[in-house]
Amino acid sequence: MTQHTVPCHPETVRVAASHQARAGQIASEMAAIAATGMVLPGSITERRTRCGRDNCACHADPPRLHGPYWQWTRKIAARTVGRWLSPDQQEEYQAWIDNDRRLRDLLGQLEELGAAALDADPRRNRRHRPADNRTGQTSP
Ligand SMILES: [Zn+2]
Repeated sequence: MTQHTVPCHPETVRVAASHQARAGQIASEMAAIAATGMVLPGSITERRTRCGRDNCACHADPPRLHGPYWQWTRKIAARTVGRWLSPDQQEEYQAWIDNDRRLRDLLGQLEELGAAALDADPRRNRRHRPADNRTGQTSP
């Protein structure tokens, strides 16, 4: 499937060829990552801990802490939620998190292309700026 439809209206908004080419590269990479299904939000953090036994090496000087343990955390509704991972899970799911970060980075690049296109849009007209109308409302 190399043919794909354009959901917007290219006849009304002309996008520079270089813009279109870069967007196509970004879309290809995003699609390739999405197709793996290996995308995970949040982050994986290494934790080392002390136990409750007073004579344990983790309380020595210098201490030898337990671990490493691996914890996956993410934000849900402004709350951080965590889950412990096994070492092999940590190795595997770190790649999923890296994919998520790359997707967000690529989306950011797409948004920057959009912002640059709007900046370059010659239809900007200073007379239409609402300088005399602080509320932005036009009702009398
Ligand atoms: Zn200990």
